[in-house]
Parts: sequence; structure tokens; C-alpha cells
Amino acid sequence: MQQLTLSPLAQQKRATYCLPAHSPAWLHPLFDAYATLEAAQEQQLAQTPRTPACHKGCTACCTHLIPALPAEILGIRFYLNHGIPAELRHTLRNNLNHVPEGTCPFLHLGGCSIYTIRPMVCRRYLVFSQPCAPGEHPEHTRPDDIFQASPAHYLSALAHTFPIYQSLGLAAPGDTPTLPFFLQQTVLLASLDWHESISA
Ligand code: SF4
Repeated sequence: MQQLTLSPLAQQKRATYCLPAHSPAWLHPLFDAYATLEAAQEQQLAQTPRTPACHKGCTACCTHLIPALPAEILGIRFYLNHGIPAELRHTLRNNLNHVPEGTCPFLHLGGCSIYTIRPMVCRRYLVFSQPCAPGEHPEHTRPDDIFQASPAHYLSALAHTFPIYQSLGLAAPGDTPTLPFFLQQTVLLASLDWHESISA
């Protein structure tokens, strides 16, 4: 697979991310993927007259079932153990046993406790017109109001994480990454035992 580079806009976005100190080499491509996705989305949004209604403090979509990919799950595990203060880690570890069904395990005190490393779906999911009402699923109530990130953009971002799958033995070296490959790996965040993933 050819070496992937970041566009100038993706490089700008990448420079704003605050990675945990001593992040392992495998974690960096995940942030390259996030920067690539956010840069591509920004360019795509610039071509529409509509403006996302999502705003800081809204956590409506954090009460949906959140899918994530293995590379993201590895990243979140690392972040939980090395990227957050010990006190928050302890609190999260205790709270993870009491997460209401259908709520993201990382929604904490009205905010995202893993914002730096939140999965792509949390970065991709945007709505126009108005913020979601509590419990609203806009894919049912107003599908035309959802921002549809281009599959090509999504794949170009995901391609940065492909070496992680190769190192995990989930993909053969030299394979060309495809969208179906990544979609097949998707799991729900809420289905995983996060309590055991966080050191006491
Ligand atoms: S990871 Fe963060 S932003 Fe994504 S659903 Fe969970 S709390 Fe919300």
C-alpha cells in the first residue's frame, strides 16, 4: 500500500489534536484518519449553503447506539489508561457499571469524556436546520437534514488506519482497503466490557 499523506487542511487539523504523552506509533495513523475526515467534511460542507445545527454542549446523539472500529477501540483503550487524569479514570471505571441502556458509556457530566479520541461516527454525524430533540433519531424524523459525508471521503480517512488492521492480522499486507472491509469490523461501543479495559 502506498504511503498516505495529509492534505494541507488535514495537517492543520492534525496539529490541533492533543495526543497523550508517549503515544505509541500505531496511534498516530488514527489521528491522521480523524484529521483527514474532518478536513474532507469541512470542504464538503463549504459547498453547501446549509450550516450544521450541532453545537457544543448538545449530547443528543450520545444517547444513540454508537458504532466504532477496532482501531478506534484500541485508541480509546489507550486514551482511557494514558490520556485522562487518574481521578477521571477512576470515576469512569466506576460509572461504566451503571450506564443507562442505549447511552454511550463515555457520556459523563453532560460531555464526552473521550472527546479527543471520540470515534469517527461522532465526528461524521451532523444535522442541519435545528439541533436534535432529546431522544430524536433524525434518520427517521428528518433524513434530509442529516449531513451525508461522502463514502469516498470516509474511505480516504479510514485508509490511514489500515496498517493497524494489518498489524492485528485482520488484513493481509498489501491489500487495498475497501469500505466493506471496514464496515465488517464495526462493533457497538456499548457491547464492549470497558470496565475491564480501564486500569484500577
Ligand atoms: S464517544 Fe463521546 S461524542 Fe461519541 S457518543 Fe460517546 S460521549 Fe458522545
